[in-house]
Amino acid sequence: MRISVKAPAKINLTLDVLAKRSDGYHEVEMVMTTVDLADRIDLTLLEDGEIHLECSASYVPVDERNHAYKAARLLQMRYGINKGVQIYIDKQIPVAAGLGGGSSDAAATLRGLNTLWGLDLSLDELAEIGAQIGSDVPFCVYGGTALARGRGELVTPLGAPAPCWVVLAKPLIGVSTADVYGSLRVNEIAEHPETGDMLKAIESQDFSLMCDSLCNVLEEVTLARYPQVRQIKELMRESGADGVLMSGSGPTVFALVQKQAKVHRIYNALRGFVKDVYAVRMLGGSEAEVLA
Ligand code: ATP
Repeated sequence: MRISVKAPAKINLTLDVLAKRSDGYHEVEMVMTTVDLADRIDLTLLEDGEIHLECSASYVPVDERNHAYKAARLLQMRYGINKGVQIYIDKQIPVAAGLGGGSSDAAATLRGLNTLWGLDLSLDELAEIGAQIGSDVPFCVYGGTALARGRGELVTPLGAPAPCWVVLAKPLIGVSTADVYGSLRVNEIAEHPETGDMLKAIESQDFSLMCDSLCNVLEEVTLARYPQVRQIKELMRESGADGVLMSGSGPTVFALVQKQAKVHRIYNALRGFVKDVYAVRMLGGSEAEVLA
């Protein structure tokens, strides 16, 4: 028996850091949504209890460090499962890019194994297990659009925002999320997002308010370190993007665009500058689906 699960990338429409906690995590408040750039996870039932993993990208770890592997192992241990799985990850989401690829793979594996191993767990239960793998995994379990609080694991699902195109561009640098958070001085953040305005923009499907409310406090750290990220933002704006922001800890920058004609212009302008450019639809609604 074999099933395939879609693991979409996420972007941050807002990312605020409220405080550094005594447990070392940061208290965050972020609005996230999913876009139609996805890894595909194939799960094949193994009767012997083993977990095997392969990935189309050679630089992704295929042992117990892989987030999808961790997801399978955690489910086995928590529910005493004696079945195993062969996991294949068809990697389409750039790695260490601020697009949550590893988190989404873990979440898709949890959803898929819930079906493959006949566990019948709720999304809330899967999200709780996902929180042990990473702070963004619970959001990825629900998919769609959501407000995430705490260290990211307290997820409130939201409605779909105004439909639009998203052009993503990733310069040829990998950014460590831990380094970026480590360099952030929480008491000296220059501009915090108006998260309430973003929630209003989503609820009323107001595209221009959504663009005006884009804000990520981690930009000031990553932009200061990597001038290419600032250049990509400027190029997107000059080419007619309606809204521009860095996702997560970067370095991927995204442009929100309503008119399809503009999408080509922005895509072509960026292709002259960086190799990794994608023009996709915002998904926005719940995408927690098992494909077959
Ligand atoms: P985050 O913001 O959660 O760090 P990201 O999009 O910036 O997410 P990922 O693509 O998830 O970064 O990769 C971060 C690291 O996680 C990589 O360096 C990689 O070694 C490790 N990793 C573990 N499992 C996976 C996976 N399934 N896909 C990609 N990376 C993975």
